[in-house]
Amino acid sequence: MATIKEYAEKFYKSNAWERCRQAFIASLPDKTCPRCKERKGKIVHHIKEITPENINDPMITLNFDNFEYICQKCHTQEHLRDKSTKEDVQFDEDGNLILKKSPPHSNG
Ligand SMILES: [Zn+2]
Ligand SMILES: [Zn+2]
Repeated sequence: MATIKEYAEKFYKSNAWERCRQAFIASLPDKTCPRCKERKGKIVHHIKEITPENINDPMITLNFDNFEYICQKCHTQEHLRDKSTKEDVQFDEDGNLILKKSPPHSNG
């Protein structure tokens, strides 16, 4: 019942992405989430979301200009905002890819 798309899973597990993600985080002078400016960033989000059409386009997938280092909460909100998003992935505390099993329950 994993909802992650196969094309995205392959990408998120690739060395290229892992290296690029870490380099991007290291390049940031301020690791605070730019959205809430409260919590520390946790997830490198693709501003222009990844689709099967652009998954092999490094100008989208591995481009610092397309990254946003945001906290877990803002990232969840970002993806809830647009229910049609194709980037259907989540990350755990360490930024590792996790598969979504159940729909998020509302807690106020
Ligand atoms: Zn935030
Ligand atoms: Zn995202």
